[in-house]
Amino acid sequence: MIDSMQSISEKLEQVRSNIAQACLRSGRSVADVKLVVVTKTASIEAIKEVVRLGCYDLGENRVQHLKQVAGEIAEFLEKEDSSLPENVNWHMIGHLQRNKVRQVLKMSSLIQSVDTLRLAEEVSINACKLGIVSKVMLQVNCSGEPQKYGVPVGAAVHLAEQITTMPNVKLMGLMTMAPLTLDKDVVRASFVRGRELFEDIRAEGIAKGDFSELSMGMSQDYEIAVEEGATILRIGSAIFSAV
Ligand SMILES: *Cc1c(COP(=O)(O)O)cnc(C)c1O
Repeated sequence: MIDSMQSISEKLEQVRSNIAQACLRSGRSVADVKLVVVTKTASIEAIKEVVRLGCYDLGENRVQHLKQVAGEIAEFLEKEDSSLPENVNWHMIGHLQRNKVRQVLKMSSLIQSVDTLRLAEEVSINACKLGIVSKVMLQVNCSGEPQKYGVPVGAAVHLAEQITTMPNVKLMGLMTMAPLTLDKDVVRASFVRGRELFEDIRAEGIAKGDFSELSMGMSQDYEIAVEEGATILRIGSAIFSAV
């Protein structure tokens, strides 16, 4: 147990150092890149460990698991009387069914995986009922792979415009995933497409100042994502997996 905790802190340290180096290479500030630690494969003990190590933005891709771990971490933070914050931010990063939106809104501070008009409407309706404004991001399929979730690039600007007309959602930016490949050029091309779309939407003034986040980059490709302008990285296995 002790060993695996030590290795989590070492792996986290390595990830943070790689991010800092990628920022340096690309003339960016580390303050402009947020690490969201994806906990879907981690034990509760491992999640507590990353929270103790200062990771207060956590991501889950399944509602059931989000519910379970968010509850346990909230309990942990309640008992803990140290310098830890009162709560952490949970990012919903996985495919979301409309009938689960209400549950997710109660637990998550940012839904990164909104990819249809109907889902966005469901978020707005439920946020209204709860008396909140929900932060969302538009998930875009930049790789063009048919099996991927996400709005196609060609339809993204229009959907972004529609989402900004909804009263109880705030569109914070774009989320995308690179194709599953070891070919770094293919990965980079996908991130470049994401950044260009992000810049197009900003240039059109859609969502005004709210629209400022570009979530891309996972364990295999986060350094490329930093170089291509990501402001949010979603990293799991590089921190939690045995290597
Ligand atoms: C699992 C997951 C991640 C993290 O993937 P790793 O390869 O473990 O870093 C990031 N984003 C989404 C949407 C995921 O489902």
